[in-house]
Amino acid sequence: MVTDWSEGASPWATDEVLSWRDLARLAAAGVEIGSHSATHPDFGRLDAAAAREELCRSRAMIDARLGFMPTSFAIPLGQSANWTPVAMRAAKAAGYDLVYAQAEETRSAGTIARTFITGFDNMRVFSAALSGVFDRWEEWG
Ligand SMILES: [Zn+2]
Repeated sequence: MVTDWSEGASPWATDEVLSWRDLARLAAAGVEIGSHSATHPDFGRLDAAAAREELCRSRAMIDARLGFMPTSFAIPLGQSANWTPVAMRAAKAAGYDLVYAQAEETRSAGTIARTFITGFDNMRVFSAALSGVFDRWEEWG
């Protein structure tokens, strides 16, 4: 989750972003809640201090609102150009054990491949994702 978005500072309509209440219900149901940063920046363009601030602030906000410190982080935009060794060191120092990137072959060292589901996807796409159809997804270009 992008913490500032759930605080109301989102480019999306309010009903397109999970509220803290939604997130608390999901967490109570056993869904893992991880960080996707505070503001969804391109970490490929952040210096160490800015990366640290994004990573620590989002983690602290999740703790304040949901009562736990997340240990997983999904890279905003997710491409190899959106993550750096500086960002990876900042993520580890901030307490994240798992960092998800959006490619199998070209993702940065130490990251884990992921795919994603959006509100624009229907049940057919969701089912396909769950079955692994997108597991070998690579970069957008
Ligand atoms: Zn994102």
